[in-house]
This record gives sequence, structure tokens and C-alpha cells, in this order.
Amino acid sequence: MLTVPGLCWLCRMPLALSRWGICSVCERAARRHVSLCPRCGLPSAHPTMACGRCLQKAPPWQRLITVSDYAPPLSTLIHQLKFSRRSDIAPALSRVLLLEVLQARRQTGLTLPDRLISVPLWQRRHWRRGFNQSDLLCQSLSRWLRCPWDSRSVTRIRPTATQHHLSARLRKRNLKNAFRLELPVKGLHMVVVDDVITTGSTVAEIAQLLLRNGAATVQVWCLCRTL
Ligand SMILES: [Zn+2]
Ligand SMILES: [Zn+2]
Repeated sequence: MLTVPGLCWLCRMPLALSRWGICSVCERAARRHVSLCPRCGLPSAHPTMACGRCLQKAPPWQRLITVSDYAPPLSTLIHQLKFSRRSDIAPALSRVLLLEVLQARRQTGLTLPDRLISVPLWQRRHWRRGFNQSDLLCQSLSRWLRCPWDSRSVTRIRPTATQHHLSARLRKRNLKNAFRLELPVKGLHMVVVDDVITTGSTVAEIAQLLLRNGAATVQVWCLCRTL
């Protein structure tokens, strides 16, 4: 994807003066989704109540905010961010996520966080790619929400196998004790930010770590939640 200054990255229409990245029409198009369970972020008939799955076994976090399932245009932009090292895409993606958060705040009185947490990459992977996409999202969100964030709040203390091919049970074992908390979170409302949530096992592990250490609540904010 080639970006031309002043044109929307997706539809190539001229952008309003104060905008960059994607236009308001594409922004709205990216935020399409069905009614979702506020707890797990999976499709549910009642967007204000926890779904049947959550009533049986709820994830450790209290609330999940997501923009769409893993589909174009968001999936394309995320892929370019990660694999073509297009870190300039991150602010536009952060803004789409911010709009979702502000809408949830208007509609359901969502609590704004005391602190943002990014999902740490294992150092070697970080080094190869040059940046952590979760850090880039947090950077913009923390500025706009005036909410503290430090990329080293949670660190990965041992490498974990790539998760794609593992079953849910093996993913859980793979992540056990993989993270360490580097700051006090007692009584704080925390938000874990990531680009894509698939099984949710990584953010679940981090959410549990935060709650074990006394965090008041943990939310998960992500661009895409795969169905
Ligand atoms: Zn556009
Ligand atoms: Zn649910």
C-alpha cells in the first residue's frame, strides 16, 4: 500500500485538513460488527449482558472492547503494520480503537483506565521486527486519554513457542509464568491493549497476573477479535 499525503490510505479520497491515515467513511466501515458479549467480545444476542459461555466460564478480564472481527480493511492494515514495518499506520489504527472506546463510554459508562499495559513480545522477535505493535497502539492511546503507559510494565521472562499451532490447553501451558509484573497495580483500573485477540490466552495470562497483584479491574482493548 502506497500512501499519498492528503489522501485516504484505503479509498484514496482527499482527506479533511486535520486528518491523516484513513477517512471518516473508511473509519466507519472498519468498525462494523455484530452484537457482541461485553465480557468475552464474541457474538451474542444481548450486547449488554454476559453471554451463555461467560456465564459458564468467564474470561479473567471484566470487559473486552474490539473494533471488528479479523477482516479487511483492518486485517490488511494490521498485516502491513506488522510485516511491512509500516509503523506510520499505528496512529490511524489507534484512533479507530479510541472511537470504539469512547462509544462504549457514552453507551455503557465504561471506566477509563488508570494505566495501559501493552503485550510484550519476546525480545528476539521484537528485535527482528524493530517494534512492538501493541506498544505503538498504547503510545497514541495514552497520549489521547492522558493515561500513563510504560512499555516495560509487564515483561516476558522466558521465550514461548509460537502459539498458532497449539491447542488451547497447550497454549495455556506454554504461557504459564511467562510474564512478570514490574510495577504496583493495587486498586488500579487496568487495560491490556493488543492488535488481534484470537483465543485470548495471552491476554488472559496477563489479566490474571494483574488481578493476582491487586488490580481493581482489567479490561482488554483490541482492534480485532477473531470469531
Ligand atoms: Zn477512505
Ligand atoms: Zn461472553
